[in-house]
Amino acid sequence: MQKTTLICEGKTKRLFATDEPELCVMEFKDEAMAFYGLKRRTIKGKGEMNNLICEQMFRLLAGRGVATHFVRRLSPSEMLVRRVDILPIAIVTRNIAAGDVCERTGIAPGTRLKATVVECHYKNNELRDPLVNYTHIAAMGLAGHEEMEIIQRVALTVNGILSTFLQSVNIDLVDFKLEFGRAANGEILLADEITPENCRFWDARTHEALDLDRFRQDLGDVREGYQKIITRVLRNDRNTEDKIQ
Ligand code: ADP
Ligand code: MG
Repeated sequence: MQKTTLICEGKTKRLFATDEPELCVMEFKDEAMAFYGLKRRTIKGKGEMNNLICEQMFRLLAGRGVATHFVRRLSPSEMLVRRVDILPIAIVTRNIAAGDVCERTGIAPGTRLKATVVECHYKNNELRDPLVNYTHIAAMGLAGHEEMEIIQRVALTVNGILSTFLQSVNIDLVDFKLEFGRAANGEILLADEITPENCRFWDARTHEALDLDRFRQDLGDVREGYQKIITRVLRNDRNTEDKIQ
């Protein structure tokens, strides 16, 4: 398998084609970006830490039967993934109120929600990923009804698996944003990343943010937060399967 041309570069990753049309290389970047590019900084080692965390999360989910694009780790900052056509909808799942849901609803930050919230956002940088509902998705032809059912069901399954595992390592899964895509064979796969860039991870005891909010809101050293996640997640790696049964 040979890495070939750059397919696209986003805020946190670069995607490369390979000599196998159904596979691509996902490289995690050290650049950090917030507020749609208004705030930027290079954080050395961030890409490698994200690659490590993402691999652990995808392995955990695959072990529980979730279909993901992850194939294998290639290098400290790269993983091999199955190439998909990304659906232009991001699914945000929330357990604890934080970020824009607080501005939209007036719920106080840090409130544990009485029921899990599942939101659909239209993936469009210029429009700042607006919240959309089923009727917008159907009206714009963004995804089929069955596809929407699958991705929302998978988002809830992922929430259950990750929340339970993370709880066992003293981390609260506050919220997270997933992307899905269609593989060449038509299968819907969980794609993109599961890292502290698209998930809020709080220390369950102190409520300290361990994720990219440290950069967004100047809450502390980013690498220190990511390292805490890695230490807890990897230390429990061998027992992961037992813990989430
Ligand atoms: P963004 O700035 O849109 O968040 P990222 O840096 O997170 O971009 O990721 C780069 C791009 O790679 C995104 O458009 C994402 O949807 C896409 N992508 C992720 N996984 C896959 C995949 N398996 N196949 C094709 N594209 C993918
Ligand atoms: Mg992204």
